[in-house]
Amino acid sequence: MEILMDPLEVMENSIKAYKLTTKYHGNFVDLKRALFLGWYCNLKDPCKFCYMSTQKNKIKDPKSARRRLEGILAEAILMKRIGWKLEFISGGYGYTPKELNRILELVAYLQKSKQYLNVGIIDFEKLNLDLVEGIVGAVETVNEDLHRYLCPQKPLDKTKDMLLKAKEYGLKTGITIILGLGEKEKDIDKLLDLIEELDLDRITFYSLNPQKNTIFENRSSITTLEYMNWISTVRLNFPKIEIITGTWVDKLSNIGPLIMSGSNTITKFPLFSIYGKKEGITVEKEIRSTGRLLLGTFSDIEVLKGNKKLENTPYVDEEIVISEENMKLLESLRDAINKKIEEYISKILKRIRS
Ligand code: SF4
Repeated sequence: MEILMDPLEVMENSIKAYKLTTKYHGNFVDLKRALFLGWYCNLKDPCKFCYMSTQKNKIKDPKSARRRLEGILAEAILMKRIGWKLEFISGGYGYTPKELNRILELVAYLQKSKQYLNVGIIDFEKLNLDLVEGIVGAVETVNEDLHRYLCPQKPLDKTKDMLLKAKEYGLKTGITIILGLGEKEKDIDKLLDLIEELDLDRITFYSLNPQKNTIFENRSSITTLEYMNWISTVRLNFPKIEIITGTWVDKLSNIGPLIMSGSNTITKFPLFSIYGKKEGITVEKEIRSTGRLLLGTFSDIEVLKGNKKLENTPYVDEEIVISEENMKLLESLRDAINKKIEEYISKILKRIRS
């Protein structure tokens, strides 16, 4: 990204954006996490920055790269315990509506919460939309040339059509944007136009986490100030939109600045490897240092174990009705889910002790 921005203006805009965020969203910040269904995407020509593109040739049987249902459901239960809402249920392209419905129903039921989906182009007629809060389109970049080159099989128009259709069904909508792909500062205007055109309810930003064996392997990241520039500009133009910002373990110190420039939510952590460790505690401290109240926890072991109820949770229990078939499936999986929960917790405890 070429640097044209005026750093002082970014700081001034951020102060305004922070205040505007307080006005429309209150004094809270929460943590979110995408629930991944697997490591396989069936696009023939996958996106050039994506981890899944590096795995494609190694995966002989796509089904083997899918997570087992008990693991997905155990994670959903733990997320609810620690007060992290699922950013969305996410997988590469290639899940049938029946498979998606099954996962959607079970996750929503266990969390007593409707869900966002980010699973490629949705077949609305075949999904249990009563359990869907919103649909996310993976836009990745608003720079058209870059988009055509990096995501040859994910045409923007199809994503846009899907998001407009989602609105017709009364669903909320969001997009994901990755910064650091080569976009220019002037592309911010294109993003503002897109948010308006689609009437988006939320936007997720990630800063590129360069993956090995992709063309981005040795690329440096965008700077914190550049990141703040995008966030604060969106916030100043769209006071009510939910802004989710991604970070990574090597960038935890950008959390405070991202919140100061208008972010509502922090996402993208290797949760199970840093929960309760110094990195998890750093995330909590970064958030609290901005004067915001943190919803959820990144360190409380008793909450994780289910021995203590979380005080500040973003979850509001909803009535979730699912099919009898899926209810039976859930009962048959109970033991396996509980075993998986214990496994996740004991891994976390071992890591904390090491
Ligand atoms: S569609 Fe998603 S999962 Fe598939 S290659 Fe692109 S970014 Fe990766």
